[in-house]
Amino acid sequence: MKFDLRHKRVFVTGHRGMIGSALLRRLQNEECEVLSAPRQVLDLARQEPVEAWFAEHRPDVVIHAAARVGGIHANNQYPAEFIYENLATATHVIHAAWKWRVQKLLFLGAACVYPRDAPQPLSEESLLTAPLEPTNEWFAVAKIAGIKLCQAYRRQHGCDFISVIPANAYGPGDNFRPEYAHVIASLLQRAQQAHVASTPALSVWGTGKPRRDFIYVDDLADAIVFMLQHYSAAAPINIGSGTGISIAELARLICNVVGYRGRLDFDTSRPDGMPLKILDATRMRDLGWVPGTTLDEGLQQTYRWYLDNPGRAGICH
Ligand code: GDP
Repeated sequence: MKFDLRHKRVFVTGHRGMIGSALLRRLQNEECEVLSAPRQVLDLARQEPVEAWFAEHRPDVVIHAAARVGGIHANNQYPAEFIYENLATATHVIHAAWKWRVQKLLFLGAACVYPRDAPQPLSEESLLTAPLEPTNEWFAVAKIAGIKLCQAYRRQHGCDFISVIPANAYGPGDNFRPEYAHVIASLLQRAQQAHVASTPALSVWGTGKPRRDFIYVDDLADAIVFMLQHYSAAAPINIGSGTGISIAELARLICNVVGYRGRLDFDTSRPDGMPLKILDATRMRDLGWVPGTTLDEGLQQTYRWYLDNPGRAGICH
């Protein structure tokens, strides 16, 4: 049975981030009222203001998209921030959603929740079967806790709280600050700089061999709305492209998009992270959702947004 979003009050946490802003765009097509709260007004890392906000605004639906996120460098560099902020916000939002009788909540996991050496593509059943990839285990532990919180409140209190596990998301609104950026934003930015300066080589971190699964953020927002409407169970659902690409191939695609003709230099002093991170998209497809944007189209759109929004490209989620 479809969960009806019409006339519901939908609270999107992290509405200024890449995923949150894509959700706001997507939710314009539903007849719902979207609620959001800027960080200065509501600090999700503190329980009391979160509960007070829920008491006052009484959302029917919650999408917990707020997160401290960052690429491989930021994850390695700021482990305390990544584990604390993500654990605290998930705990407060999910608990308040139970307390104030939210009808449906969707928690956003991340592909790094899966064990480093789990069989590929990564199936939802691999969760908690072996050790994590060390470069992002802090973030991963917090995301696993969020998934488990949803399952616990479902089991003990019957709450309709679900989780999705997206592949590496990218797109307009991404964080391009070099310290925090994920691979697509980093490489688009450096390729553009190399192009403008006509430098002979583009530096790519690691060996170029790891493979990743990328999902365009507007596709992800569409999948989230689809899952809210059509999915209700304890198990998380992967949301990915169903395929992977090596970092070296990705770098070449990015050079094409930017028009940069130099060579690639692989900087092996930088970590590779997880060797393979490709999601098994079988359950997602069986439920009836597939992404609509190819990687090439998504990269073109992201590049365009980056050129058109030089000021906003530094926003941290
Ligand atoms: P991950 O999926 O958690 O490892 O997140 P990232 O998007 O940060 O990195 C993905 C892969 O791209 C890793 O193997 C990185 O070493 C590689 N990579 C290559 N160049 C870059 C870069 O400039 N920035 C980032 N963040 N990663 C890069």
